Amino acid sequence: MSYSVEIPFRQIILHIDETIEGLDANYIASGLHEITGINIIVKGDIFREYSRESTPEEIASTRIADVKSRVFRSPLPVEIDIEKKILAGKNIRGIIYDGWKLSRMMYLPEKNSKYHMIAVTPRLMGTLEKGDARYHIRAVLNSIPSIISTDGIVEGPARPRSYYIGNEGPCDVNYMRYGDERMSKAIISYALQTVMWRITGVPFCSRRGCPLYNSHWQEELIDSQVEGRLCEEHRPKLYLSSR
Ligand SMILES: [Zn+2]
Repeated sequence: MSYSVEIPFRQIILHIDETIEGLDANYIASGLHEITGINIIVKGDIFREYSRESTPEEIASTRIADVKSRVFRSPLPVEIDIEKKILAGKNIRGIIYDGWKLSRMMYLPEKNSKYHMIAVTPRLMGTLEKGDARYHIRAVLNSIPSIISTDGIVEGPARPRSYYIGNEGPCDVNYMRYGDERMSKAIISYALQTVMWRITGVPFCSRRGCPLYNSHWQEELIDSQVEGRLCEEHRPKLYLSSR
């Protein structure tokens, strides 16, 4: 039996934080357009684009206060000041935000009904899911709007233990780094996961090497999100323009 799924959007709005080093917005947009066949609109950082007076405080209130529980507290003045500096373009790393709260903060009902919106940010985000003992850093959050974190792509998928204990031995995996020129490619792959999630509810593919593979290790990230190719099942599913 054949059936068709109604695509809930006809365009993708890609908000890319312009302070992220080394990203090629045109490459990302044309890569996504080539695969999906639909119009991709590139805009600036979502927080700056829709900034209001309360934005720094709202962002600061999504900070993770405790890595083991999902509790939040009112932000301190110094934390609000840090957000003002980041919004002004200063690069400050290491703060972890709750992904779900961050996404809810970005929610724009009038936009979300017609578009698939993806925010690309350097901000580190974590989620604490049921059954998890602590927050996990995420490269991507499938939500409305969806979020892709470039720092999360570096810090989320784990490196082998030998990397952390300072093993100086030969290492044939070239892990993703800050400012990595392969980051744009990885963003296309994670954006495709969010598109797949929007249209089917299932973002992942079980085949390693497909950009939709759920990579937990840097090695898998390089194989799937950077050097991967869409598998035969997912390539036609992601072509949306003729449906
Ligand atoms: Zn696949």
